Order: sequence, then structure tokens, then C-alpha cells
Amino acid sequence: MQEKIGVLRQQFKTELSTVKESKDVEQLKIRFLGKKGPVQDLMNALRESPSDQRPFLGKQINDLKTELSELCDKALGSFHEAELAHRIADEKIDVTLPGRRRFMGRKHPLTALLDEIIEILSGMGFSVQYGPDIDSDWYNYEGLNFPHDHPAREMQDTFYIDAKMLLRSHTSNTQLRVMEKNSPPIRIIAPGTVYRNENISARSHVFFHQVEGLYVDKNVSFADLFATMEEFWNKLLRKKVETRFRPSYFPFVEPGLEIDIRCTNCDGKGCRICKESGWLEVAGAGMVHPEVLKNGGIDPEVYSGYAWGMGIERLALLRYNINDIRLFAENDFRFLSQF
Ligand SMILES: [Zn+2]
Repeated sequence: MQEKIGVLRQQFKTELSTVKESKDVEQLKIRFLGKKGPVQDLMNALRESPSDQRPFLGKQINDLKTELSELCDKALGSFHEAELAHRIADEKIDVTLPGRRRFMGRKHPLTALLDEIIEILSGMGFSVQYGPDIDSDWYNYEGLNFPHDHPAREMQDTFYIDAKMLLRSHTSNTQLRVMEKNSPPIRIIAPGTVYRNENISARSHVFFHQVEGLYVDKNVSFADLFATMEEFWNKLLRKKVETRFRPSYFPFVEPGLEIDIRCTNCDGKGCRICKESGWLEVAGAGMVHPEVLKNGGIDPEVYSGYAWGMGIERLALLRYNINDIRLFAENDFRFLSQF
């Protein structure tokens, strides 16, 4: 029995010296020390040995078991260490590889421009108000001095929901709501989406965005409107801009104006963007019509006001030198990622 123990020990050591990885050690351990292994066979054979030798032999077998087990653990330890070192070497970061670009979201160009406009006008004392996209005929038309069957209604092809409700055709629907809830001085801007039943083309869309401006107080005059507009355009375009005011007609202002600025692309020499005129149409404006003030609960004998409205898409076309309004609504990542 004692001889067998010695042989087994030697056999194990020989085999252990030839293993190449931790997996082999684990298999060796199972093979020698497992329930069907030679060490267990020795334990079984112990029962048949003379009873006076059993304690001594039993201890010998137990010692062998412990020894083999420890040898395995030691071998496993060193294999694990080597394997870890190897893996670390494998996974070493190659700092010369180009980095991966991480995608960063950003504002839509229209939102970015609108934010800029709001910031400029807030700095000039205007607060921001929002009107509803779905509104009544009264706030969008009737109350703004567009009587029924007035030809001016046809200038804005409107989406009607029913006889009374519609999708607002301009942000001017905010004017009366603000006047009803506030007393002068009123100095607000109202940005938002507007809707028109038009054919979609490079120049027009069924929805677009406007910013409305409204100032009502005692003694508000044309001079105030001109000064405000000039300061606004200078700030938005970050240079001294020449402005021009042309008489025009909108039912809710009297008199009404179109505001032009010197073409930012050609400085007035004439180009494709300004259609060779040297001027760009950028806003509609005027003094608030006395009827509109009355409808808003404001006495036109005491107060006067000016209002203006401008299209954000139109400004964005100029700012970014783009020639198709549809690009803003398509959410084409190739387009948007350029901003
Ligand atoms: Zn031009």
C-alpha cells in the first residue's frame, strides 16, 4: 500500500510537470482526486488492510490527498497569473488608432435661429408669449379686422377645422389674447408655427414659423417701430444694416408696411438671392388698427401700438444661404448635420 502511495505521488508529479494551461491542471486534479480516481481507490482498499496498519496508512493517504490538492492549487495560481498577464498584453490600448467620433445631438437650425431672435428681442424688453395653434376665427381673423368675405382672407389659404375653428394662419392670433389679459404698456413677441393650405414648393410649405411682435403704450409712433426694427436687424446680422419701409396693406394695421433690408449677400449690388433688386423683404409691420385695439379692450384714443411679423424659414434661408424651404421640414440627417 505504501509503495502504491509513493508511485501515485510520483506519477502525479510527472504528469503535472507536462501541463500547458490551467484547464489541464483542473482535469488532472479531477482525474487523480475525483470519486473514481486512484486516491479514492486507495481509500477503498484501506478497508481491506490489516486493522493495526489502518491509522498509519490512512494518514499517509490523507497527506497524499492534501499534497496533490495543494500542488494543483499552486499550479493553477501561477497559470492564472500568466494568463492574466497575457490577456492584459493582448488588450493593451493602441493609442495610435484614430478615436471613434461620438454623435452629439444639437438644435435644429430653425430652433437655433429662433432662440437667437428671442434672445435679442428679450434683451430689448420684449417678453415671450405663446398663442394656440388651433384657434377660433375671431382671434385669427374677425377680431383682427378681417371681416367675413374680406378679400384679404384669401391671401392666407386657411385650414378650417369647422365653421368656427381653424389652424392659425399667422402668429397674429396672439395679439388679442395678450391685449385682453394685460393693460399697456404691452411689449411682447409671440413665436410659433403657422399653417396654410398651399402647395409645397421650394418657397412655400403647409406649415412654417413666425415671430410676432407687439408694442402698445401711450404715444407709440412709427419712429419707435423704425428704431426697434433697425436695432433688431443690426443685432441679428451682427452689422449695420440698411432698412427700407414700403407702404403695404394688412387689415390689422393702419398704415401697413413691408420692411426690407439691404441684401446681405450682395450688399445691394443685385444677385440671385435678392432677384437683382438689392433688397430683401424680411417682415410685414404697421401701426395697430384702432379696431383691433378696441377688440382687445384697449382705448385707441389713449393708446397706440405697432406690430410686426416675420417668417423664420425666410430668415433661415438668408442666414444659411439655402434655397429650398422644404429642407427644414424633412429631417434629413445629411442636411441637419451641417449646422
Ligand atoms: Zn443680393
